[in-house]
Amino acid sequence: MKIQNKKRRFLGQALYSTQSQIALRLLTREKRPFDRAFLAERIQAAAAYREQIARNAEAYRVVAAEGDLLPSLVIDRYGECYVIQTLSQGMELLKPAIVDILKEHFSPRTIIERNDVAVRALEALEQKKGVLDGEPITEVVVTINGMRFAFDLLAGQKTGGFLDQRENQLAARTYAHGRALDCFTYSGGFAVSVAPQCDYVLGIDSSEEALSMARRNGELNGLTHIEWKQANCFDFLKAADQAQEHFDLLVLDPPAFARQRSNLESALRGYKELNLRALKILNPGGYLVTCSCSYHVTESDFLAAIASAALDAHRTVTVVERRTQARDHPILLTVPETHYLKCLVLRVA
Ligand code: SAH
Repeated sequence: MKIQNKKRRFLGQALYSTQSQIALRLLTREKRPFDRAFLAERIQAAAAYREQIARNAEAYRVVAAEGDLLPSLVIDRYGECYVIQTLSQGMELLKPAIVDILKEHFSPRTIIERNDVAVRALEALEQKKGVLDGEPITEVVVTINGMRFAFDLLAGQKTGGFLDQRENQLAARTYAHGRALDCFTYSGGFAVSVAPQCDYVLGIDSSEEALSMARRNGELNGLTHIEWKQANCFDFLKAADQAQEHFDLLVLDPPAFARQRSNLESALRGYKELNLRALKILNPGGYLVTCSCSYHVTESDFLAAIASAALDAHRTVTVVERRTQARDHPILLTVPETHYLKCLVLRVA
């Protein structure tokens, strides 16, 4: 719909929601109608950017909502399969046009919707998932960072995988050696990526479904030196510390601890505890790749929590890299919410 100020001066065009606290989501300041051709241009512009920055990946985010000037729309590509999420009332209305555009410009084998996400409730939209168009393919195997990964596009978390970690998984490989521990491994993203550089890798997750995918991903790459274990990572790290186990690379990629600002304090305590235990069991010269995907925890909050952990652990730590989400999840300078993932590479002396 068109938006104008009190003096009826045209301001732009936006998606409107009757339900959400976000009543308007700006699409454009141009007067040109936001029609199918305009939508197709935006999607193609987003795809053209991925040609530059995700050329070596077969799975990546083609459209990342606000980051691609298409608020509340997510389009992920897994090889020849596309998975979409329409997360506002306005974008839901555009779904048929989005499916047509994908068919016309990308020739997908299948288009799936993963609209089984809690935020849709804020828009009074129903939870649903399924194949929207094309062949009923729901499992794909794609190459990411030179490794093979299977994704279950209907049953997996998010749209199948955590594509925002692709570049961090590759970065972790740079530092990998000896014995590696991947905590919160999900389907083995970090574990499989670093395995070629390591003597032994242990991947841990609390979800048995996630671990069966992880196991499969290990096998797809012929990796026999990865072990998978179902456990609560907090308990595992505590026990590993008590048993004086040691690792040369440790990855921490927990789910968001602070989904709301009110959880910030307890989230920071959680990050401190995890990172404290991790730092204690790293060998000298070892690396910690530690992540927070909580938007409400800023990079400086996160650094401070880990600094406090390092002091308590009596370890000297250097910050080797300060990373964020992969570049196919663009950070819109004027929308700070689009910067949510923090990934630090630390080295212990
Ligand atoms: N590192 C993964 C993504 C991790 S998502 C990747 O790169 O693909 C977070 C994972 O943590 C989920 O798989 C979830 O099942 C798991 N998880 C959540 N709480 C946990 C806990 N306390 N202990 C172990 N795993 C947990």
